[in-house]
Amino acid sequence: MVLLIDDQAMVGEAIRRMLVNIPNIDFHYCSNAEQALQAARLTQPTVILQDLVMPDVDGLMLLQQFRSLTQTRDVPIIVLSSRDDPKVKSAAFSLGANDYLVKLPDSIELIARIRYHSRSYLHRLQRDEAYRALRESQQKLLEVNLELQQMTHSDGLTGLANRRYLDEYLYTEWQRATRDQQPFSLLMMDIDAFKQYNDTYGHLAGDEALRQVAATIRAGATRATDLAARFGGEEFALVLPATSPGGARLIAEKIRLDVERMAIPHCASPTTGSLTLSIGVATLVPQRDQPVDLVVELGDQALYQAKHEGRNRVVGMGE
Ligand code: GH3
Ligand code: MG
Ligand code: MG
Repeated sequence: MVLLIDDQAMVGEAIRRMLVNIPNIDFHYCSNAEQALQAARLTQPTVILQDLVMPDVDGLMLLQQFRSLTQTRDVPIIVLSSRDDPKVKSAAFSLGANDYLVKLPDSIELIARIRYHSRSYLHRLQRDEAYRALRESQQKLLEVNLELQQMTHSDGLTGLANRRYLDEYLYTEWQRATRDQQPFSLLMMDIDAFKQYNDTYGHLAGDEALRQVAATIRAGATRATDLAARFGGEEFALVLPATSPGGARLIAEKIRLDVERMAIPHCASPTTGSLTLSIGVATLVPQRDQPVDLVVELGDQALYQAKHEGRNRVVGMGE
């Protein structure tokens, strides 16, 4: 699509005749320069032929306007001038003209230039579109990868981190604590009399209770480095890097109390008539070459003691 802007109808007619029987060239003529921008918006030309000297509008200004509008910024502009003046030529090129022809041009040359500029413009559009599509698919890929990563890291029932990710996380955070010589705390939690809960209320109600307890545990993990995980079955863990025994104990007490306050009825419970949680708290400052299993075992011992002492309680060990 070629758009010609020229105030002289004679020029318009002459160029129309040059292009009329040429395959693949559509021609649109606009004699009023004030309507040029609108005409360009409507016809979406792949080449603009533009006069420089017109009665109402300065041709160089019009050129500048074409270059400043998003829709026409990259459309090739061939300036049609009545003079072969180097100053005018240079001004036109510096304002963004792509080509310069003296009126009236030879039809072979005009058609060749229209074809050349049209083609390179269309190629440019195609390339931009390909880049855009590429960027879009790269973005999608990133999102899908992230989703996939979250899926492989999380437990399907509760949405907490799964055992595999917990193990990875324990390992890296334990290493960091060894380097930094920081206290490393771990909460091991186990729902009290959960077998009886399932037996009394059914497995589906059991699943729902697991989800609710998991949400309460997640809410207890306040720092970005804290990690709440499902250890397996009705057992959970909360990793608390750089946390003192006192700090870890406070968090454990809060989670225990929050679960008790949810007041999920459990008539067969040996503790309070509602669902409760026993928590073992372990804190260690790791020494060189000590394995992370140490803190997990200590947490297990503390949890075992909490069960032994009557359940629905927190027991702390270490440091
Ligand atoms: P304790 O107070 O000593 O912890 O007793 P408990 O009954 O909670 O412990 P036990 O280990 O004997 O039973 C755990 C129960 O948790 C048995 C198992 O069916 C149930 N359980 C484990 N995973 C799931 C699950 O994904 N969904 C449901 N509904 N139940 C589960
Ligand atoms: Mg258990
Ligand atoms: Mg249990």
